[in-house]
Amino acid sequence: MADLQAIVDEIHEKLTPRLGEGKVADYIPQLAHVDPKKFGMAIVTVDGEMVKVGDADLPFSIQSISKVFTLTLALGKHGETTWNRVGREPSGSAFNSIVQLEHEEGKPRNPFINAGAIAVSDLVLAGHTPREAIGEIVRFVRYLADDDAIAIDPAVAKSEQATGYRNFALANFMRSFGKLDHPVEHVLGVYFHHCALAMTCMQLARSGLFLAASGSNPLTGHTVVSKQRARRINALMLTCGHYDGSGDFAYRVGLPGKSGVGGGILAVAPGRASVAVWSPGLNHNGNSLLGSLALEMLTARTGWSVFGL
Ligand code: GLN
Repeated sequence: MADLQAIVDEIHEKLTPRLGEGKVADYIPQLAHVDPKKFGMAIVTVDGEMVKVGDADLPFSIQSISKVFTLTLALGKHGETTWNRVGREPSGSAFNSIVQLEHEEGKPRNPFINAGAIAVSDLVLAGHTPREAIGEIVRFVRYLADDDAIAIDPAVAKSEQATGYRNFALANFMRSFGKLDHPVEHVLGVYFHHCALAMTCMQLARSGLFLAASGSNPLTGHTVVSKQRARRINALMLTCGHYDGSGDFAYRVGLPGKSGVGGGILAVAPGRASVAVWSPGLNHNGNSLLGSLALEMLTARTGWSVFGL
């Protein structure tokens, strides 16, 4: 069996001279305050082995990685009817693009672009006040990670609320097509808050473990979703999890993954492990530059790519 600690130590050492590369997201002002040289990585295997390196215990803004958790919740609440509201195809466009929405009459391409995640927030809101829906999301993530310390960073949520012009445009556009059931302010309140969840790499790796282990978390014994649903969420992460960089991520890393503009990536090696990496500098698609590289090095060394050795 591979010595995972030795592998992550080597990745960390190799990337250390490059820390700070890429561009930290600053369109959400609060995110611009992060130290661009931070780097953390954590792996939790389905057998319960845990390894970490660097800043793996420092919380960061998980941003769009949270869309995996809200999709899982929406599927739990609405089942297959979720797909009446959001598609399952890669968009080939930027995460915050509005262009396809007009042609497709307010039905976003997939649940991981902003428009799609806003539609998912609308589904999670069903039967709830925004405060209750946000509470449900936080409780769900705490349950997944088995860690009650996980919380939303209110300064990030506020910062995004104050500057989220694009997201307001997307939500208003969808509402104009009758594709949101709740007021835009409520839907975006939920969306901004789940994007502002702060988690460490270790917490994130633990919370994604159910996807690596056929829907059940082997650390807690909790069955989160069916095998079929876990497989399908992984498929969406592989095809859509990195926006218009999804093809490149599949080519280089070969794992289902979801990125966030905070610089985090959650990657799933089915049957093997859940991996989280954090490095704030982003590439031109808004995905962590060194985070992607770290995962590429990991799969090259472990043979964990879903496409073969
Ligand atoms: N909260 C961010 C936004 O809406 C999420 C984007 C991301 O992480 N790619 O712009």
